[in-house]
Amino acid sequence: MVDSKKQRVVAIDGYSSTGKSTIAKGLASRLGLVYIDSGAMYRAVAYYALENGLISDDGKINTEKLYDALDTIEIDFHFNSETGKSETLLNAENVENQIRTPRVAAVVSEVSALSRVRSFLVFQQQKMGEKGGIVMDGRDIGTVVFPHAAVKIFTTAAEDIRVKRRFDELRSKGDSSDMESVRENLLHRDHIDENRADSPLRRAEDAIVLDNSQMSMDEQLEWAVRLVQDRMA
Ligand code: C5P
Repeated sequence: MVDSKKQRVVAIDGYSSTGKSTIAKGLASRLGLVYIDSGAMYRAVAYYALENGLISDDGKINTEKLYDALDTIEIDFHFNSETGKSETLLNAENVENQIRTPRVAAVVSEVSALSRVRSFLVFQQQKMGEKGGIVMDGRDIGTVVFPHAAVKIFTTAAEDIRVKRRFDELRSKGDSSDMESVRENLLHRDHIDENRADSPLRRAEDAIVLDNSQMSMDEQLEWAVRLVQDRMA
């Protein structure tokens, strides 16, 4: 049933490596929606902070300088028609590969816990979704960014499966991190994401839980396509 008060937005939240972006990309290509990876925006800010010496070796963030710099940070997405993939631009530089490294993963949740960083990015995310027709994944999309999204999905999967997924993803990009350090980073990020004061990772009350531990990609996508078609027809 279509509810006219709802925004034509699909919000997908969940823990790290629970397949959010794969479902989101699949939905976008099947249903002609625009996919927005909110995690890439937090990663781009974290990468900016690292590159500009705003995070010390022991992980301390120079928040004052980072807040001053926020207005100079521009994040865009660009569709690369050769690879068929979306790329993240930071001040017009393609940083898609750099933001996916363990170096960025090690600090991104600490950067994302800063309220000023969140309000800066949430404002942009809301603008991107103003006209509807988008699918956005993250940690606070159904709770904070688009509380009136027509469809909210909360993904989850068994820990070992999530660790293996992230490990395989990093290996496919030539990274040689071992399984235990991948697990450690995943659990560390989940812990900070769930326990931060501002917009912690939570399932929105009206989100539908998808435990995809034992589901194939095709099964998940068919499930999600039916749900979206039903709610956003
Ligand atoms: O989704 P991805 O794993 O790329 O996100 C990287 C990090 O960005 C998360 O671990 C989380 O700390 C942060 N994030 C967030 N809110 C979002 C999306 C991502 O805090 N909406």
